[in-house]
Amino acid sequence: MSVQKADVVIVGGGVMGSATAFFLRRRGQTVILLERDQIGQYASGVNFGNVRRQGRFLGQLALANRSWALWKRLPELIGDDLEFIPSGHMRVCYCDDEIAELEAYAAAPEAEQLDLKIYRGAELRQRFGFLGPNVKGGSYAPHDGHANPRLAAPAFARAALRLGAQIEERTEVAEVGKIGADFQITTTDGRQFQAAQLLITAGAWGQKLSAQFGEPVPLDTHGPQMAVTEPVPYALPTVIGVYTKIPEEVIYFRQIPRGNIVIGGGYRSKPDMLNRRAYVEPRSILNQISQMRRLLPGVGNLNIIRVWSGIEGYLPDSLPVMGASGTVDGLYYAFGFCGHGFQLGPGVGDVMAELLATGSTSTPIAPFSITRFALAAQRSQAS
Ligand SMILES: Cc1cc2nc3c(=O)[nH]c(=O)nc-3n(C[C@H](O)[C@H](O)[C@H](O)COP(=O)(O)OP(=O)(O)OC[C@H]3O[C@@H](n4cnc5c(N)ncnc54)[C@H](O)[C@@H]3O)c2cc1C
Repeated sequence: MSVQKADVVIVGGGVMGSATAFFLRRRGQTVILLERDQIGQYASGVNFGNVRRQGRFLGQLALANRSWALWKRLPELIGDDLEFIPSGHMRVCYCDDEIAELEAYAAAPEAEQLDLKIYRGAELRQRFGFLGPNVKGGSYAPHDGHANPRLAAPAFARAALRLGAQIEERTEVAEVGKIGADFQITTTDGRQFQAAQLLITAGAWGQKLSAQFGEPVPLDTHGPQMAVTEPVPYALPTVIGVYTKIPEEVIYFRQIPRGNIVIGGGYRSKPDMLNRRAYVEPRSILNQISQMRRLLPGVGNLNIIRVWSGIEGYLPDSLPVMGASGTVDGLYYAFGFCGHGFQLGPGVGDVMAELLATGSTSTPIAPFSITRFALAAQRSQAS
């Protein structure tokens, strides 16, 4: 059987793999993208759709800002509208002392581009009069917003295809290895691919491939819980989420212009990784309904018309694995985005393409290096 070759082989066609394929083609690299099922079928296609920068680890804001600049230009860049609405994002809290934490975040130099404004008291009630009486304050990010996740990865993949990328769906990678200067990639149906550079963007399955290069990571999998209401007149353009240390209180929602309110939050489920299914936890949906009544009393009687979940990969420090391998030249990773990768997608694609094509990136990504796990293991062995 013939071996198919490219400058770069990408494993995993979620938003990370598809966006990287697009940006690599713009830099003139030949690319083969291998996706086990269909482009955007997993987390990238079923997420909540928050295009939120505020609340992220401050060391990730440079990457989130780069991504946000791309979100604004996407229709012109990829020829598709992902329904991105820079509607604003409001992070509210139920405790007075949490307002001080929101203020400290807003004052950090890294958060400057977010233009955060803290609301409380009469000003809060005047601007967000629909919020429940328990809400004490909030941090408003005027430029953050939301988009339609179903559209994102397929749109990037189509744009990459138009620029000449080779995209293979229903193609599961079984084995990866490096022989001489090149990576050899073998699929479960016996096809072979070869490239000088290999990028693993396999989401919640990323560690299965990194382990084949001797770089295991302690990735865990969870299924965040989503629901959507029947449509009602469009009145809530701002995305709203609760900032809290109490897990049951975590709730966020957005209304789409058609009128439905998309809701997320609460107890996550444990996905079935063998059959690739993420299940809905009924207690989560019940909890979402009671939390929504507290946050937004006006929605108390709306019908929930659909519930779903999705498979996401989480690392113990809630940061992704992103950057060059610590052991193998030409090997790169971008996976495990811990429930906040949708906003980052375009930026990750741009940064990874820059890194693969030039050997470095102008956006700092050192905190996300896979080497942090090997270093942590060495430290715990030494102690
Ligand atoms: C329910 C839910 C809600 C979320 N809400 C938000 C949100 O509001 N905002 C936000 O920023 N983020 C959110 N996220 C997180 C975000 O969706 C993810 O971080 C992001 O989509 C990850 O993209 P990815 O490309 O890394 O992974 P994925 O979309 O999982 O793509 C990985 C791909 O790799 C493929 N693959 C795996 N193994 C192989 C193999 N061996 N061979 C070939 N292909 C393989 C898979 O089939 C899959 O298609 C949410 C996630 C979920 C699940």
